[in-house]
Amino acid sequence: MAMQEIACFPRPPQPCCSRAAETPEAAVEDFGGRVCICHDAACAAAAADRQVSPMIRTLITASARSLRMLAAGVVGYALPPRCPGCGVVTPEDHQFCVDCWRELDFLGPPACATCGIPFDLDRGEGALCGRCIADPPAFDRARAAIAYGPIARRMVVRMKHGGRPQLAITLARLMERLLEQDEQVVLAPVPLHRWRIWRRGFNQSALIAGALARRKRLVAIPGLLTRVKPTPMLRGLNPSARAKAVRGAFRVDPAHRPQVAGRVVVLVDDVLTTGATANACARALRRAGAAEVRVIALARVSPGEEGR
Ligand SMILES: [Zn+2]
Ligand SMILES: [Zn+2]
Repeated sequence: MAMQEIACFPRPPQPCCSRAAETPEAAVEDFGGRVCICHDAACAAAAADRQVSPMIRTLITASARSLRMLAAGVVGYALPPRCPGCGVVTPEDHQFCVDCWRELDFLGPPACATCGIPFDLDRGEGALCGRCIADPPAFDRARAAIAYGPIARRMVVRMKHGGRPQLAITLARLMERLLEQDEQVVLAPVPLHRWRIWRRGFNQSALIAGALARRKRLVAIPGLLTRVKPTPMLRGLNPSARAKAVRGAFRVDPAHRPQVAGRVVVLVDDVLTTGATANACARALRRAGAAEVRVIALARVSPGEEGR
């Protein structure tokens, strides 16, 4: 597919953020087609700061968010339920059509006991993959509900950039089997940098964590972890570059330290790729005294696709 230049936001493009997307879809996935495809969020945030005063920006963002929410509510009320995978009309909300349901690849054993990467053959209970043996992650266990494929991708993109935050409930329904009923568990979403929350209006992982907490009667703390530095887009980076990019990017909010010390914290994310972000979050949780850190996600990118 031909390369396509996407205009930066705001114009004019900054020299360091006028790169081309591999496909128009990739740009849409990253930024909803509204901002540049820059891999340096700090650069774009700085550009936005130069162009718009903080008060105006806050007002614009809040208004746009309210309108989006209102529109989503009106549309949701007026239209029948649709399959989250393909959009055909279904009898109930959050219900997949037969074809999409068949296409979902639910993950389970055999898999690495720590990171959950699927194994072709059963290697026995407690078996670890090569990566976890060579470089044990800071989390105790990571699991995803389904393999990352066209349906998972479509749902995540529509939720994040298509004005469909209510898809968090669909995702939570798919993910809830990954949670054990444990009253000591605290759910913590992987945080977004505040600039990205301003742009998008919400943190998708926080919405999923909230939906999971309601369904499983658990506690979710959206601000438990904070992202203390903007990180570049990880797409296209190899595992070691990803790990380096997110190192030191997260910390536990000091106000929430008592809710972490000695507790089991379940980190909630939408997509697991190499686990670099989850690992950086888990390190911060360990430093704050978490007894155990588990990670759950909607979808896992297969190891062969990680570098894309
Ligand atoms: Zn469908
Ligand atoms: Zn592993």
